[in-house]
Amino acid sequence: MLRKILVVNSGSSSLKFMMFDMKGEKMLAKGLVERIGSPNANLVYSRAGEPKASSPVAAPDHAAALKAVLAVLTDPAKGVLKSLKEVEAIGHRVLHGAEVFKESVKVDKAVLAKIRKLVPFGPLHMPANVGGIEACMRILPRVPNVAVFDTAFHQTMPPCAAQYALQPKYYKKYGIRKYGFHGTSHKYIVQAAAKWLRKPVSRVNLVTCHLGNGSSISAIKNGKVLDTSMGLTPLAGLVMGTRCGDIDPAVVFTVAALEKMDPARLDRLFNKESGLQGVTGVAGGDMRDICAKAAKGDEACKLALEMFGHRAAFYVGGYNTLVGGADAIIFTGGIGENSSDGREQIMKRLGALGVKIDKAANARIRGEAGLVSTKDSKIPCVVLPTNEELMIARETFALAGGR
Ligand code: AMP
Repeated sequence: MLRKILVVNSGSSSLKFMMFDMKGEKMLAKGLVERIGSPNANLVYSRAGEPKASSPVAAPDHAAALKAVLAVLTDPAKGVLKSLKEVEAIGHRVLHGAEVFKESVKVDKAVLAKIRKLVPFGPLHMPANVGGIEACMRILPRVPNVAVFDTAFHQTMPPCAAQYALQPKYYKKYGIRKYGFHGTSHKYIVQAAAKWLRKPVSRVNLVTCHLGNGSSISAIKNGKVLDTSMGLTPLAGLVMGTRCGDIDPAVVFTVAALEKMDPARLDRLFNKESGLQGVTGVAGGDMRDICAKAAKGDEACKLALEMFGHRAAFYVGGYNTLVGGADAIIFTGGIGENSSDGREQIMKRLGALGVKIDKAANARIRGEAGLVSTKDSKIPCVVLPTNEELMIARETFALAGGR
C-alpha cells in the first residue's frame, strides 16, 4: 500500500514541505527552505513533536532547495526516511487551475504543459509552482506527482456567481471571471464540518470562513461551492492583512489619475499596502498586534477590527441566504482558529440570523475544534482547524493509487 507522501508548496523564494505517512495520516516532519536564490538561504526543519531547528543551506534555485529537503528527510540522525525510495508520491500546491483543472490531477508532460499555459493567471506564484514540479520530476523521476489547485474546489460555482457583469468578450477572450482561492482549505473544512455535523458531505450547507493573512468566505450548498468571496485574483472580498478586498472599482482609476500610478504600482498599493495594515499602519496587518493595540484604545486599530467584522458579517449573512440556511458557520485559518476578538467581531453582527455567541467558549477556544456559539444559537458557529497539507496529501494518495 502507498504510504509515504511528500507535500510541496513552492513559492517565489521559498519551498515549504511536509512528509506524511498516510497510514493514520501522520505528519512525520515539516519545514521550509527560505530565501531561495539568495546567499543566505535557510532550512527550517522539525520532526513531529520536536522543536524546529534552522540551518544555512546552499539554495540558488528550487531544485537545490528540494535536494536540501530530501537530504534532511533521509539524514540518519535527523531524518524520517531510510532512503529516498520511501517517497512514493509528491503532492504540489498549485495556485491556479483556471477552468482547465476542475480537480486535482496526476502530472505528466502533457499536464505540465497545460499548467505552464496558466502562468498568466498567477504571474507571481505559478512559475515557482511549475518549477517545484519540474524539480521533483527531474530529481525523483520514478515518483508520481500530483497537482492540487487552490481554485479547483470553486469550479462548481454557477455562472450567475462566477461571471462578472461585463461584456462577454472579457470572459471569452481573456478568461476574466471569479475563480476563488483557498479551495483546498475550504474543501478540507467541508469534509471536517460534515463529520462534525454527522451528515454526508453531499447534504451539508455551510458558510466556511477561512480567515488568515489572506481571507475568504465560501457559500457551500450540498457540499459544493455556490459562491466565494475572492475573485479573478485573491484581492477581492474581505478586509485582509494587506489587501483591501472589495472596493468600488472606480477607486482604482480615480487613484491612478490622482497619483499618476501605473498598473504595477496600483497592484502593490491594493495588494500589499492596504487592508488592516493600510488602515492601522501595523506591519502586515497582523491580527494579534491590532487586537493588542485596540485593547489599549488605539482608534485606528479599533476601526480596522470593526471594518473586518462588518465586511465578513455581510458575506456570512448573504451566503447564508444563498445556501438556503446554513447548518453551521465555520471559522478556520490563523485568525478564525485563534482570534477570539476577530470571531466576536463577526458573530456579534449575526443576531438577525439567530446566532448567539458563547463568550466563554469563544474566549477559550484557540487552535482546536469547538463550538463558540450557545446551544440555543439558531446556527452553530464552530472552530475547525484547517490542514491544507493533509488535504493535498489525501488527494495525492487517491490519485497516485492509494485507493
Ligand atoms: P494565517 O495566514 O492563516 O497563518 O493567519 C495569520 C493571521 O492569524 C495573522 O493576522 C495573525 O495575527 C493571526 N493569528 C495567529 N495566531 C493568533 C492568535 N493566537 N491570536 C490572534 N490572532 C492570531
